[in-house]
Amino acid sequence: MDYQAILETIYQQVTAIKDKGTPAAYIPELAHIDVNNFGLYLQNNTGDVYGVGEYDTKFSIQSISKALALALASSFDAVDILKRVDVEPSGHPFNQLALIEIENGIPRNPFINSGAIVIADILVSQLENPKADFLNYVRDITGDTSIAYDLNVAASEKATGHKNFAAAHLLKSFGNLHNDVDTVLDFYFHQCALHMSCVQIAKAFHLFANRGKCQVNKLRLTEQKVKRINAIMLTCGFYDEAGEFAFEVGLPGKSGVGGGIVALLPDNFVISVWAPGLNKRGNSKLGMLALEQFTTKTELSIF
Ligand code: GLN
Repeated sequence: MDYQAILETIYQQVTAIKDKGTPAAYIPELAHIDVNNFGLYLQNNTGDVYGVGEYDTKFSIQSISKALALALASSFDAVDILKRVDVEPSGHPFNQLALIEIENGIPRNPFINSGAIVIADILVSQLENPKADFLNYVRDITGDTSIAYDLNVAASEKATGHKNFAAAHLLKSFGNLHNDVDTVLDFYFHQCALHMSCVQIAKAFHLFANRGKCQVNKLRLTEQKVKRINAIMLTCGFYDEAGEFAFEVGLPGKSGVGGGIVALLPDNFVISVWAPGLNKRGNSKLGMLALEQFTTKTELSIF
């Protein structure tokens, strides 16, 4: 299959679309990103790579980081994550608060904000230097020490993240946040502010496409954990659009409000896309279309 030609065709088709969606204005630092940016990158498990557009440009990975945080939290065998976070799709926006109250402080899944904040709390408890250790984990699994947090994005979200503060306080009121709200959210905002390119994201997610075996060092996540994280990506990775993504694209994946999406076919490939204009559900509008085109043209999906 001529993957480079397929990516180039998708690039031509998708970038010609006039309505490119809108950037995530609720984080001021992300509000003015040019929606004309578009990068698409494919890394096969064989090591072959293909890319078009701005696939090497770094952007704010936002909620894509939630899968990496979950992977690191899962590596602590003493922690029973499922006692604190469920694994059901929420069917509601990523920042919805009502379910936290209705379901007594147990978030539906680790990828809506409330669930990710509980995972952040677990990491704050488990790690000696949470922000540095999490960053080192991402650098380790990619073999790339240039990966860093965008401190302006973290500060911007901290200044305006009222719904996340509300979610964290609600979780705390139900006893499902062990550390203090400011410490956990400081970690969470930095985690979301990881600044990475499509190339670096694909490298990080190779772990999930390769049964937990890292390509650059001995780091390993068990096959059972990888299977579970991939299942949560498929059912919950796109919030109230998870059904649509499974239907149109047919791969486990994770989106972020920075306009990135990563998806993977176990034992085969990781594909990452960046197009900062979002649809109404907070997922990259052109990114979703590009991935739908990719699995349609290649007939590669988990189904
Ligand atoms: N940092 C963002 C937030 O908490 C992440 C949301 C997202 O990417 N869906 O609102």
